[in-house]
Order: sequence, then structure tokens, then C-alpha cells
Amino acid sequence: MAFKPANNIQDLQYFGEFGGVNPSISDSSTYTFLSAKTMFDTFEGNADGCYLYSRHSTPSNLYLGQALAAMEGTETANVTASGMGAITAVLMQLCGAGEHIVSSRTIYGGTYAFLKNFTPRFNIETSFVDITKLDVVEAAITPKTKVLYCESVSNPLLEVADIAGLSKLAKKHNLKLVVDNTFSPLSISPTQLGADIVIHSLTKFINGSSDTVGGVVCGTQEFIDDLRNVNDGACMLLGSTMDSLRAASILKNLRTLHIRMQQHSYNGNYLAERFEKDGLKTVYPGLASHPSNELFKSMMNEKYGFGGMLTVDVGSLDKANALMELMQKRNLGYLAVSLGFYKTLFSAPGSSTSSEIPADEQKEMGLSDGLIRFSIGLDADIERTYTMMHACMKELEILK
Ligand code: PLP
Repeated sequence: MAFKPANNIQDLQYFGEFGGVNPSISDSSTYTFLSAKTMFDTFEGNADGCYLYSRHSTPSNLYLGQALAAMEGTETANVTASGMGAITAVLMQLCGAGEHIVSSRTIYGGTYAFLKNFTPRFNIETSFVDITKLDVVEAAITPKTKVLYCESVSNPLLEVADIAGLSKLAKKHNLKLVVDNTFSPLSISPTQLGADIVIHSLTKFINGSSDTVGGVVCGTQEFIDDLRNVNDGACMLLGSTMDSLRAASILKNLRTLHIRMQQHSYNGNYLAERFEKDGLKTVYPGLASHPSNELFKSMMNEKYGFGGMLTVDVGSLDKANALMELMQKRNLGYLAVSLGFYKTLFSAPGSSTSSEIPADEQKEMGLSDGLIRFSIGLDADIERTYTMMHACMKELEILK
């Protein structure tokens, strides 16, 4: 299939039911059949183009899935009710009792909790490793391993996975490489680098308006059919289905993703450079000081930049909290979790989005108390934002 990134989303053409320029929304949970035989064939998965029941699929969800598959360069995609709905379904589909996953240790706290606390109930074990060290990753693979799991750019430490290197390992050991690309849509195209399955939390940059949760699994037709199978498909049976109205609204937002990502990246890069010059401990994949700056450059679709996520370590949780409260008071963003909004969002991951990770493990992976995660917004005047943030830091004596 030809690769068609979302910046070419204008190439997708829709004619709604009445000639509308947006596809018509299918506002139904169930579908009629003219013949009982077609209904039976649909259950069996043998009636292409027929809809059965909306937990299985809907026209609106298929439109969104097609657009996201076009963005990631996969054969097809299945949208889900949340990012976690996508992650849990994929991992439960790929692994059964007695099997094993090798995962990056720096991943979203919810994914970490699922692998650490939930899947062991089904006798699925996970080894958490430093994903930036391919020899360590390979050493963790056992005959029971089925999946290599990572985030292209990790939450919250912004570690960068060498997707091509991991893909080689996955092929060598006959594993599936599953990549959560939530932090770097458009900037990184994991399947072009050898990933088998790409997941997004649509809740973040892709939808971009912080009004819904959503997720997607991008992969081969065969794998997506497996997920939707009425007899043993994890998406069908675990039931994390997206609502059609939401699918329609996310599709409309997706069309501006390429413009938004350029602005998020521009602003992120600007602030990261300024903060670093000020002497703050700043992590941003676009900085030469980032240990994987060169790797990111070798993987990226340059036009979309290094993304809108950066972290700054201000030394202690008290200082981090004081700074976030002051920045919110000055209308520089919101003290809120999540990312990809038009306003800057900031939170201290150690006590919020990564609090599922025990304190000693946080420490070992370098997640310090004073770390603030920023999702930089679409500010039109980022220089003014910087000046105001700088003033807050001076006032709190974070900067001398
Ligand atoms: N993946 C990453 C990298 C995330 O940051 C998150 C949420 O913060 C998720 C997955 C989960 O997505 P959702 O909240 O849509 O279930």
C-alpha cells in the first residue's frame, strides 16, 4: 500500500450520504439485513461491506481508521474508546497464559500498571528494560517472549526508541514490535522503520482539543481482523469501542494535525533552547544534549520537528508545585495531565501520570521529584510566553 502521511490528508475524498463534504455519521448501534443469510455470513466475517453491530464496526469508525492507517502507512486500523483500550486489546490479543513481554521501563503509567499488576493474573509476565540499550533488550528475550513493547518517545522521560534496531531484534526472535507513537505523531512513522503495530492515544495530539478520549491500533488487515473477530477478538470481546459521533469529530480534527504539530514543535524547541541556556536541566529530543538527538534525527520526518513535549527538573516537588501554580495563575497554561492541547499543560509526573511506578523504580529510571512535564501549546507569541515563564522562575528563585 502506498504511504500517505496525514499532511496529504486532503487526498482523502468523501461524499456524504447527501453529497456532504464530510462522511455521514452512522448513528446506529445495529443494522438491518434484507436476508437472513447475509446476516449469518456477516457473523462469519464473510460479507464485506455489511455492518452488523456497532461494537464490531461502524462506517464512521472505519472512516477514521482509514485516515489513521493512511497517516501511519499501515494496511488498516481499528479505533478504540481510549488509548488504554487499544493497548490492552493488542497485548491480550498477542499474548496468552505462559507467555512473556519485553517492555521499555519508561512508558505511560497506565500501561506500566497493566503489565506489572494486571496481566500477571493471566500468567503473562513482563520484563521491564532500558529500551535504549539493544543488548539489554535482547538479553531479556526468552523462548516465551511474544512482544517487544515501547513508546517511540517515552512518557514522561522522553527517551527515544531505536525502532529500526528493535525491529531487527523482533524479526530475529520472531516477535511482534508494538510501538505507542502518542508523543510523536507525524514526526516519527514507526512502521516505516519496521514496527509491526502502531498504537496512539487519540486523546492527545491527534484529536488535540482535550474533549474526548480515544485510541487506535494501526496494523495489517489480518491483525485488525483478528482483533475484531466475533469469536476471539480482543477489541470485539473486551468492548472498548469508540462511539460513532466521536469518530466523526476526531476525523475533523485530524485534518489540522500537520499544522498543529509544526507549531507545537516550533514552540517546544524554542522554549527548550531558552530554558537550557538559562541553566535549567531540560530534556527535549531536539536539543544536542539529548542522548538520542542524533537517533531522533535519523528517524524523523523533518518537517514536523521534535514534538511539543519537554521536561524541566526544578529540583524538588515543592518548587515544581509552586511553579506550576504560579504559571497557571499567570495564564501560561493549565496544571493538568494529558497533552496535545492548544494551551500548554504541565504536571509533575512522579506524583501524577507515573505515580503507578513505585518510588524506588522511579528513582532508578531517573524520574525525579522536581521533574515537570510540559506539553507546549500553540501559543502565537512564544517569546512572550518564555519571558513570562522566566519571570515566574525568577520570582520563585528557581533561576537566580
Ligand atoms: N500512551 C501514552 C504515551 C499516554 O501518554 C497515554 C495517556 O496519557 C496513553 C497511552 C493512554 O491513553 P488514554 O488515556 O487515551 O487511554
